[in-house]
Amino acid sequence: MDNTYYLKVALNVPLLTTFDYILSSDISPERIKAGQRVEVPFRKQKKVGIILAITSKTTLATHKLKTISRLIDDQPIIDNTSMQLAYWLSDYYHKSLGEVFTVLLPTRIRQGKALSLPTKEIWYAKATDASAQLKRAPKQQRAFEIIQQYPDGLTRENFNALDISLPIVNALSEKALLIKKVILPQEKNSLIHPSPVTLNTEQQNILEQMHAELNHYVTWVLDGVTGSGKTEIYLQMITAVIHENKQSLVLVPEIGLTPQTIARFSSRFDTDIVVLHSALSDIERAEAWLKAKLGIAKIIIGTRSAIFTPTKNLALIIVDEAHDVSFKQQESLRYHARDVAVKRAQLENIPIILGSATHSLETLYNAQTKKFKQLHLYQRAGYAVEPQYTLLDIRNHYLKEGISPEVLEAIAEKLKAKEQVLIFLNRRGYAPAYMCHHCGWVAECQRCDARMTYHLEPLHLHCHHCDSTKPLYQYCPKCQSHNLLAIGLGTVKIEKVLNDIFPKATLVRVDKDSTRKKNAMDQHLEMIQSGKVDILIGTQMLAKGHHFPNVTLVIILDGDSGFFSSDFRATEAFAQTLMQVAGRAGREEKPGTVMIQTRNPDHPQLQTLVYQGYPHFVNEILKEREIAKLPPYSFLSLIRANAKNNHQTHEFLNQVKALSIKSHTPDISILGPIDAPMPKRAGNYHSQLLFQANNRMQLKQFLSQLVNDIYKLENINRVRWSLDVDPTDLMG
Ligand SMILES: [Zn+2]
Ligand SMILES: [Zn+2]
Ligand SMILES: [Zn+2]
Repeated sequence: MDNTYYLKVALNVPLLTTFDYILSSDISPERIKAGQRVEVPFRKQKKVGIILAITSKTTLATHKLKTISRLIDDQPIIDNTSMQLAYWLSDYYHKSLGEVFTVLLPTRIRQGKALSLPTKEIWYAKATDASAQLKRAPKQQRAFEIIQQYPDGLTRENFNALDISLPIVNALSEKALLIKKVILPQEKNSLIHPSPVTLNTEQQNILEQMHAELNHYVTWVLDGVTGSGKTEIYLQMITAVIHENKQSLVLVPEIGLTPQTIARFSSRFDTDIVVLHSALSDIERAEAWLKAKLGIAKIIIGTRSAIFTPTKNLALIIVDEAHDVSFKQQESLRYHARDVAVKRAQLENIPIILGSATHSLETLYNAQTKKFKQLHLYQRAGYAVEPQYTLLDIRNHYLKEGISPEVLEAIAEKLKAKEQVLIFLNRRGYAPAYMCHHCGWVAECQRCDARMTYHLEPLHLHCHHCDSTKPLYQYCPKCQSHNLLAIGLGTVKIEKVLNDIFPKATLVRVDKDSTRKKNAMDQHLEMIQSGKVDILIGTQMLAKGHHFPNVTLVIILDGDSGFFSSDFRATEAFAQTLMQVAGRAGREEKPGTVMIQTRNPDHPQLQTLVYQGYPHFVNEILKEREIAKLPPYSFLSLIRANAKNNHQTHEFLNQVKALSIKSHTPDISILGPIDAPMPKRAGNYHSQLLFQANNRMQLKQFLSQLVNDIYKLENINRVRWSLDVDPTDLMG
């Protein structure tokens, strides 16, 4: 046999496997390194894959193997850490390496395009007298004389400003009178502006501890209420990293990537900051990726997928608002960016800070069991004090359109004092239901098992699950009665009701509908901060990260929604939102009040939460979870399936269940298949099968076998299915 070499290649194909290809004989095997891109024939098309290894033997029949089409890179574009992270992701979430790379890499790089950064061209004039040579081109001669006056060279923009056209520049270049140099973007000399704040002793202590462990892996759980100065800790830690000429990676929730957030970093650090957000073009994204990879960008800020950005010398990861649900990806590779961030910090052997006022139970459990190190910021910056909570019992009380008289009184008082009021209701639209007063019929979405929301402008019904809309019914389709009513409260209705009661007050509503237009959110925030707004009404879009120093009263209209859900995580999520909203009140020197309307004022967990605080609440919930053997005391994985009819999903999941039972793993409980909590969604039926285990390793091995077996099932194409490791949402 001759010296044939084979490449193991990861391709984006939904199969848990890699692919072998023959290395063309004109490419020396020494040129091949893991992490290079390669173009290969696959079925009838060409695909870009990532080389994983090169070998001189293959276990496959060699006559069936194809030869690669071309080697794209001379050097690997996947560095060691990214490669290790990719293997870990593939193993942990049971996805092929090819599928993992699809999530890790920007589109242009996946497409096999060349890597390049925008370069700067500079032209220099030769120090010669060209008057003879340019005798017949007076324009060129004039231009040449001007250019000669700039020994440091001129750029395209300079020529524009000097009114020298590009054809003239090109003509002079052709005559070798101008010399062009191409300048690659370079590392900026980072400038750090001094901190405008004086640290309190608490902050100083925390920074001392963090500084002492700057050079190895540690997960810091930074526990700080709103206004406690968490951001200053981040900025000081980044300062230490920049002093070593290294890079920091900052993850923020989807909703938190605002101009204000970025300004906090850019006003302190005059350095190369790349911001990764969904509005970037493919080219911009690839450039940002490359700048980070080359070490030019010192600070990388982005939402969850930014955790995959390659770096040259990463020294710190920060996950702000680490409890936020948007860190979990709910499609394809269903990773949790917080967990991936911790894994990456381990691989890079660097510290990571998880910051929040309301950490997830998983994070706090890891702190309790000493896997993570917890640090507290108890003091609020400035003179701000903890808000005062009131639980308002609204059972058997007269409510004006869902608002109690006490609340209206409190609002009136604040308006008189020229202070702002925030009203929280996590339900947009005018009313959550449209109902027949005569027979009780309720308008439901035809594609989902869900009620339709009543909207005012324009008048229509809207499904918030599949986005379908419907004109308003003129009469009840069941009993023909014209007595149809919008039932319940949405943000739009609250806005209308309060406008009627307080006609002189200025109201602003912040929800998905009112912020659809570009920059609408920024305009709302600006108006609120300028003090022109008296009453803010909003969904959880208002709850996160924004500073409203003049808000002194927060009203939670529905304090019960989180305590009666079939998803065991709903209570935790509701408590986090409630604390976040409450945290908007009483900042700076004005004390705040939080009023919560509830029909269950005696609910023990609600009482613990508002009267003893989030940490006590967490301890109670953790006890409950331990008894029920729920995470973090056990590990869950969920297989979801959906299809055109219910029968298909159940048949598929029963097959999966049969495979699971066959593998004889007694320590893994299998629950289901059952219909999803909302079985019909957007015209498809959803079912699920839940796996629970006390040992993560065991569950992982079991699933890896199971997923392999599922791919071998017949008729698998009739259903769409997915595996969710550590699901955060059992309702979906
Ligand atoms: Zn009716
Ligand atoms: Zn709607
Ligand atoms: Zn629907």
